[in-house]
Amino acid sequence: MELFPSLFCRLCAEGPVFGSCFCRFCEEKMRHALPRPRWERIEELSVFSLIAWGRDNETPCRALLYDLKESQDLRLFRFWSREWVRRLPPDTFHNAVLVPVPSSTGRLHSFLLARCLAETTGLEMVEALALGKEERQPGKSRRERMKRRLRLKEGVDLLSYKSVLLIDDVTTSGATLLGCKKALRGSQKVAALTVFRREPSA
Ligand SMILES: [Zn+2]
Repeated sequence: MELFPSLFCRLCAEGPVFGSCFCRFCEEKMRHALPRPRWERIEELSVFSLIAWGRDNETPCRALLYDLKESQDLRLFRFWSREWVRRLPPDTFHNAVLVPVPSSTGRLHSFLLARCLAETTGLEMVEALALGKEERQPGKSRRERMKRRLRLKEGVDLLSYKSVLLIDDVTTSGATLLGCKKALRGSQKVAALTVFRREPSA
């Protein structure tokens, strides 16, 4: 499913590109310019982000974030999912199941990232979570509301997997990811992989 493939690099608009979406020059430049990927703890959840968007590197990160947000080019989703594989130790993926974070707006970004990561790693992807309607809950924080809206789909059982990897394109406060973790209710290890971590203050 190549929705809108382009022969040209997404950053410099020159080409050609082969099997990626950035030319080799931009790809190299990007890898050097971007901050190091990192694991971080958001409350009780470990989150791995390829790009932590802070004040120091706002411009290139913002450009890449919007590039992904606007994109329906499957090669871009493949590119970022391969970056996860390149950057993470192989045992991260051992006997794990990939669970995309459900979207409240019908965007397919987390689903496509999870699908491409499944393709690269051979892991299974299960759309285990659903997002219920937002109810009026005066006095409740966004974090609390997200926790209440997310639920495990009926009949889904992830207990045969050693760990769950939640997949999302971008996280800011981590509220949605924490809501997902809570909804899973499982006893196995849960971690999250995101492409972007947009620091709330940035
Ligand atoms: Zn380029």
